[in-house]
Amino acid sequence: MAKNVVVIGTQWGDEGKGKVVDWLTDHAQGVVRFQGGHNAGHTLVINGKKTALQLVPSGIMRPGVACYIGNGVVVDPTHLLGEIERLEANGVEVRSRLFISESCPLILPFHVEVDKAREAQRENTGIGKIGTTGKGIGPAYEDKVARRALRAQDLKHPERFAKKLHELLDLHNFILTGYLGSKALEFQPIFDHAMKVAEQLKPMLADVGVLIDAANRKGGNLLFEGAQGTLLDIDHGTYPYVTSSNCVAGNAAAGSGVGPDKLHYILGITKAYATRVGSGPFPTELPIDTEGTIGHHLSTIGQERGTVTGRARRCGWLDAAALKRSILINGVSGLCITKLDVLDGLSEIKVGVGYMLDGKRIDILPLDADEIFRCEPAYESFPGWTESTVGIQKWDQLPLTARQYLERVQSFIGVPVDMVSTGPDRDHTILLRHPFQ
Ligand code: GDP
Repeated sequence: MAKNVVVIGTQWGDEGKGKVVDWLTDHAQGVVRFQGGHNAGHTLVINGKKTALQLVPSGIMRPGVACYIGNGVVVDPTHLLGEIERLEANGVEVRSRLFISESCPLILPFHVEVDKAREAQRENTGIGKIGTTGKGIGPAYEDKVARRALRAQDLKHPERFAKKLHELLDLHNFILTGYLGSKALEFQPIFDHAMKVAEQLKPMLADVGVLIDAANRKGGNLLFEGAQGTLLDIDHGTYPYVTSSNCVAGNAAAGSGVGPDKLHYILGITKAYATRVGSGPFPTELPIDTEGTIGHHLSTIGQERGTVTGRARRCGWLDAAALKRSILINGVSGLCITKLDVLDGLSEIKVGVGYMLDGKRIDILPLDADEIFRCEPAYESFPGWTESTVGIQKWDQLPLTARQYLERVQSFIGVPVDMVSTGPDRDHTILLRHPFQ
């Protein structure tokens, strides 16, 4: 029987999903993206050359694996074509194996302009930046919800595309010039360029839900690859410091066109500590700038810089009380704890197990960002380990204190640790229960 596995981040993204997805792809015939846009990213090394993938699922690196971009993903057609061409230049066959949902909303140049101008305005007026990647993703999702988006299917119909583009551009130019103090964009270059790109993308447009169903019926296992992380989910995250899509496991169904009964196992990827990019509350945050501090250790040893933005990530202790909320809303079957090796050499390790909020003790992350800002984390402290865990493949070979730390996390949140990652390489993995078996 075919099995579908959903991989999601349980924190604020950058949990190391890329490595785990790559590892699991050995057991899958297809990989599906279901939300986000080209604000996600994995860096892959092909023949010694680095290739950044943002929209195309990393399964593309395995010959014969099909890759699906589901309706929940917002697609910048120019960016997508660029990614495809870069892969092809590296000898990777893409077009016969990439299927793009016809229902994907499109990101167009004015979305990027609005995104950037709005962040600048927030900064200038003192409201504070959200910390978007400036790629137009939020504005494209807004158009989707407002029921005026251009979708991938419109690329097949130039007249329809032109009509919708006129309306959409009018609105965005009004916002750009009248509200954001920016410049208007012209219709013709946007239209001409979109039609050129359309010629290339049209053969890959597909009814993705039907294709996924057919792949499953043929016995193919599928991997649903989440982007960002649960605490950045538009509904369940630390709103408004969130991304503009649902990152929770449930959206693997809605964002790709399959029923929720087809999601058989949910793997929650959890870094052994915590990081966050951009602004927003982060109760267990530590300062990272001073050498010799824990925060500096996590930042440097963990190489905590964004793949897409290059921004230094904020770092802190693992927040198990925030993890508790993630487990609750994703229905996590098992956890994969990543980057355990980054904790090597620390004499003491802490885990957030709750908060003091306005004089009261709570044991799960609150919903209101203002309240989260006021949360004082309550920690449990563990002895660390001096040995290197890099590359360990067997649970029994982990230092006793590392096992105790993982067991405590497991008992606190009530979900088994099924995998542990002890280094960036594929082999640096401890497997306790295989998600596909
Ligand atoms: P993603 O967006 O969730 O895939 O996360 P990132 O792109 O930020 O990936 C995390 C980075 O950590 C990548 O450079 C990985 O090679 C690396 N990485 C993944 N797992 C491990 C691990 O267990 N240990 C160490 N040291 N590095 C890891």
